Amino acid sequence: MSAPAAKAPKAAAERRVSCPHCRGQAVYGPSNPWRPFCSERCRNGDLGDWASERFRLPAEAPPDGTLPPETP
Ligand SMILES: [Zn+2]
Repeated sequence: MSAPAAKAPKAAAERRVSCPHCRGQAVYGPSNPWRPFCSERCRNGDLGDWASERFRLPAEAPPDGTLPPETP
């Protein structure tokens, strides 16, 4: 056998991107169902942040007439 080097032949087919959540390496391919995130946790975490941000908006802006008195 005289086959030098070729460690992971499949690696060439795997494209890698930066995970939008943790900036880590994420496989951008069929082997990664959570792409472009690196993992399910990052994907859920990103969605969670986004969702909570949306839910906070109406909470911080109550309809007029229900504003609580200012407490210094
Ligand atoms: Zn990540």
